[in-house]
Amino acid sequence: MIKHLTQLKVKNVYFCRIERHCFYFSNSFKLDKQKIIQLLQTKGDERVGLLKESQKTKNRVVGNKVYFRGLIEFSNVCEKDCLYCGIRKSNKNVIRYNATDDEILESCRFAWENRFASVVLQSGEIESPAFTKRIDKLLKKIKQLSNNELGITLSCGEQSRETYIRWKESGAHRYLLRIESSSRELYYKIHPKNRVHSFEKRVEALHNLKATGYQVGTGVMIGLPFQTYDDLANDLLFFKELDIDMCGMGPYIEHEDTPLYNSRNLLKPKQERFDLTLNMIAVLRLLMPDINIAAATALQAIDPAGREKALAVGANIIMPNITPCNYRREYQLYEDKPCLDEDKELCKNCLEARVELAGSEIGYDEWGDSKHFFNRANRLSEL
Ligand code: SAM
Ligand code: SF4
Repeated sequence: MIKHLTQLKVKNVYFCRIERHCFYFSNSFKLDKQKIIQLLQTKGDERVGLLKESQKTKNRVVGNKVYFRGLIEFSNVCEKDCLYCGIRKSNKNVIRYNATDDEILESCRFAWENRFASVVLQSGEIESPAFTKRIDKLLKKIKQLSNNELGITLSCGEQSRETYIRWKESGAHRYLLRIESSSRELYYKIHPKNRVHSFEKRVEALHNLKATGYQVGTGVMIGLPFQTYDDLANDLLFFKELDIDMCGMGPYIEHEDTPLYNSRNLLKPKQERFDLTLNMIAVLRLLMPDINIAAATALQAIDPAGREKALAVGANIIMPNITPCNYRREYQLYEDKPCLDEDKELCKNCLEARVELAGSEIGYDEWGDSKHFFNRANRLSEL
């Protein structure tokens, strides 16, 4: 790694000493694809150096605070059939649910009263006037119940530009839409190739979200069958090119009721997928120092301390699950999903302890918005 870093074209250069090695680095790394691939594959001391560098960059640029986003998985009804996902439309073993407005609002009230400051509303993907209207009404009610104080992130899949605008006007200000893979070829290995699962439409949705003023988050699954280091490096460059504000990426974990399970013999061992996810987070933190990066729940499905490890490396967002307990078993995207029985209170206490153990401070009552979003807005206003 030392070699790669000293080769960097640096601006605002300064000097750093890590584990007997000395090297230069810049405020924002300019890593080309080859260097990214090398960094993603680092092991041993060099890997330790990479992870430390990322942690230092995080602390220097976005600080040591971790922000909570109360996650409400309010419905597992989905019109899509992504080949990896446990709640895909064709999985007949899933009992479909739709939490009531009152249940969703109660979870939001819990988040607000416990000073989480933000919630994420996540669901399967449905594009219909009734769904649009329902979310619209919910957004207004969430703002009402919290004196406009709760920040709202949506993660409800691809929608029309008009719908995104309408939801933004009603109170949502962040949106998570993972590209899943920025390689068109790989995208169609993990999705059916048809109109409902169009790669182009997903990219267009991300552009629409940006154009309509959201703080935009995307991400990929790491360790997918058929995925190469080249693909992962391209994913990171895709995030940079799209100039995203937030990222949520986690290990791919198989689910036996999905078609992609048939390719499980191509998978790296889970521990390798885990380590690679931390490397991806670290490299992304160096590439885009001022964005928000989530510690994905899927990390905890592999390592009980998975999310803390991500926080220690470069992530600064965590999403306590505040979905009503009776629905959690039916939102199993992958095997061994954690926290299925923990109620909101337990989940909160557990995460508080974990964040503190990781040596970070919780940003209670703070939205903890993406610095990158505001930095970009300032840059644009200076033009
Ligand atoms: N339906 C919306 C969408 O797809 O954007 C939001 C909900 S979806 C369940 C949220 C994320 O779960 C997806 O973006 C995907 O990356 C992740 N996911 C689904 N199946 C997974 C699996 N088997 N392993 C890891 N992550 C998975
Ligand atoms: Fe539906 Fe999202 Fe799962 Fe795809 S990933 S099947 S869109 S819930």
